[in-house]
Amino acid sequence: MKIAILPGDGIGPEIVTEAVQVLNALGESFEMETAPVGGAGYEAYGHPLPESTLKLALQADAVLFGAVGAWKYDQLERALRPEQAILGLRKHLNLFANFRPAILYPELAGASSLKPEVVSGLDLLIIRELTGDIYFGQPRGVRECPDGPFKGQREGFDTMRYAEGEVRRIAHVAFQAARKRDKRLTSVDKANVLETFQFWKDIMIDVHREYPDVTLDHMYVDNAAMQLVRAPKKFDVIVTGNMFGDILSDAAAMLTGSIGMLPSASLDANNKGLYEPSHGSAPDIAGKNIANPLATILSAAMMLRFSLGLPEQAERIENAVKSVLHQGLRTPDIFEDGCRKVSTSEMGAAVVKALV
Ligand code: NAD
Repeated sequence: MKIAILPGDGIGPEIVTEAVQVLNALGESFEMETAPVGGAGYEAYGHPLPESTLKLALQADAVLFGAVGAWKYDQLERALRPEQAILGLRKHLNLFANFRPAILYPELAGASSLKPEVVSGLDLLIIRELTGDIYFGQPRGVRECPDGPFKGQREGFDTMRYAEGEVRRIAHVAFQAARKRDKRLTSVDKANVLETFQFWKDIMIDVHREYPDVTLDHMYVDNAAMQLVRAPKKFDVIVTGNMFGDILSDAAAMLTGSIGMLPSASLDANNKGLYEPSHGSAPDIAGKNIANPLATILSAAMMLRFSLGLPEQAERIENAVKSVLHQGLRTPDIFEDGCRKVSTSEMGAAVVKALV
């Protein structure tokens, strides 16, 4: 089993190092190869997604990704900025389904910004479609406003779109994921205003016929945002489009206390995937050995379960994470009085030690 290791920028190399140590401690014979991506790719080869890195990602069975981005690259033209590497990898690897589980470990209930009774025991999964929606629709740009009260002025515009096949495949992924959990799926849309999302909703209802054992309900995105902070435990699996998913999954991240706890997976139709923490490269804390490596370590566990067919090894890692939290070990982002503050590398070593 070959794993492409792409640490990236900022805290990426620090947190990926810990995840690799955990993988190495499992006793499996993984072949791991590291390559630069993002700003590191630009520095080494003049491009955020160098050809050799892309080739490695295409050959590998799975990709473990850190994070990309740093302020110093903000002046570069858009095509050369570090963040383009993620879009390029999603496109070339045909990754269309983004899984973001939001689990609140009881030990971290106090670290959430919501009351413990509202979030304790939270276990929800957000599935975000990654290839369509307003992010990639054409035409887009800035033009002269053709009519209306602002006629003749400049206007910015984008196109929201979804192809039927795009909605159908994410619907199947979501129903199948719900089937393995509490069998409740909420499709989040804005069908009351947007044609694209009325179309989305109609297809969800149609695909639901193949999954009679799963309950489907529909929620407008504004209400979903409200319910996520009012009563997040009501949800089991949420499926939504690219833009709504981008926003809702970050809101869900905060429910769990810290974005440093949230893993993610982006999968293709054959469960090959790219695994990364939900956060960015955190340039404000990079190089200080204080970043929380648990989101990356939990992303590695998702990789074992979804792409490498090793669910028992995934569970070993997840149990080790629970164990270190139970022992009271905390990186600064989740620290509370009465706990022991540890560094990135101490947290990684503790997870290795807790593997049983
Ligand atoms: P960020 O997620 O990097 O950081 C937001 C805040 O969360 C910061 O205060 C940071 O210190 C903290 N944080 C993030 N991860 C943490 C961890 N593991 N442990 C402790 N604290 C953590 O978001 P940002 O500051 O908006 O973006 C920074 C850079 O990351 C930008 O260049 C952005 O484009 C990039 N970015 C990359 C990805 C990705 O690689 N997938 C995703 C989002 C942002």
